[in-house]
Amino acid sequence: MIPVTKPFLPPIEEYQKYLIGIWSRQWLTNMGPLASDLEIKLKEYLGLKHLLFVTNGTVALQMAIKALDLKGEIITTPFSFVATTSSIVWEGCTPVFVDIDKDSLNIDTSKIEASITEKTTAILATHVYGNPCDVVAIEKIANKHKLKVIYDGAHAFGVQINGKSIFEYGDISTCSLHATKLYHSGEGGLVIAKDPAVLKKLAYIRNFGFNGPENFVELGINGKNSEFHAAMGLTNFFYIQSIHDKRKELTDYYNEKLETLRAKRPIWHKEGTLNYAYYPLVFESEKLMLNCMEGLKGHEIFTRRYFYPSLANTLPYLEKKDFEVTDDIATRVMCLPLYVDLTLEEVNLICRLLLRIQNN
Ligand SMILES: *Cc1c(COP(=O)(O)O)cnc(C)c1O
Repeated sequence: MIPVTKPFLPPIEEYQKYLIGIWSRQWLTNMGPLASDLEIKLKEYLGLKHLLFVTNGTVALQMAIKALDLKGEIITTPFSFVATTSSIVWEGCTPVFVDIDKDSLNIDTSKIEASITEKTTAILATHVYGNPCDVVAIEKIANKHKLKVIYDGAHAFGVQINGKSIFEYGDISTCSLHATKLYHSGEGGLVIAKDPAVLKKLAYIRNFGFNGPENFVELGINGKNSEFHAAMGLTNFFYIQSIHDKRKELTDYYNEKLETLRAKRPIWHKEGTLNYAYYPLVFESEKLMLNCMEGLKGHEIFTRRYFYPSLANTLPYLEKKDFEVTDDIATRVMCLPLYVDLTLEEVNLICRLLLRIQNN
């Protein structure tokens, strides 16, 4: 059986070493030494001044919306994971969807301004599959209309544009360190803010709004993460390069073998680096995509329609809305298996099957 993804697991002894420390300190959570160490290592690795290690990528988004005190309407993409939209609704704001660009699969910046009203307070865009949004165009629009910008960077760990971390863009960027993501801590997330005052507010929000044991300065939540998750993050930290290299090798091999497949990959940001988080393909037709999906399933090879359906016409708590590009792409897109344990032989088999199914 070949699943679409498999979490990376380091050698168990390396994780156990951290557990011994946790047992001897008896410090299990509340920003213990492992969580602090992970924050230091990650900010150095990513080239950031500060970042916060939090519960997960969803809470990271909710904290971001809260910290910027957003109200009213937030412009966002219908082509993302549900948490991008649900966080907006959860924080009492209204998501206003804007269609995506057919090449990058990110929010179409040429269509944002038409959706801005006097109630709009922010843009929340996803770097889909780790492909950077047009951050320059978004910043321009945001400045012109005095809007805040949040990037859902759940897929974008390690991505840079012009030698700078993608997480430096926007007022706040978030990342997910969930087990199925590229680099993970089991459950976990990151929040990055440009303005030190916003970062400070986020740090209070993460810890119930406490400023000292008997003093509150903000409306907060429990956004902390545990020493056990930090230990997983630290253990995996030493494998970031080898995870990247293996995923690149598999991706290059897919690219080479699938040259004649009637499917396209997203067009990457010109200055953006790749992190090989996913292997998405937009097939020529939904029929071909479904044939491929079913055909692979017959060989116990599992793919995923990621993202399908569009968030703008599926959520029971929102009015349904159709979008030309998103609805079309969502019906034809599929992600192929990609994880560190996958072998070149397995990729070869997947590619041979896909080409055979196409030619039948
Ligand atoms: C995974 C994901 C999230 C949520 O992250 P969790 O850590 O699972 O809460 C948010 N947005 C996108 C685009 C994601 O893929």
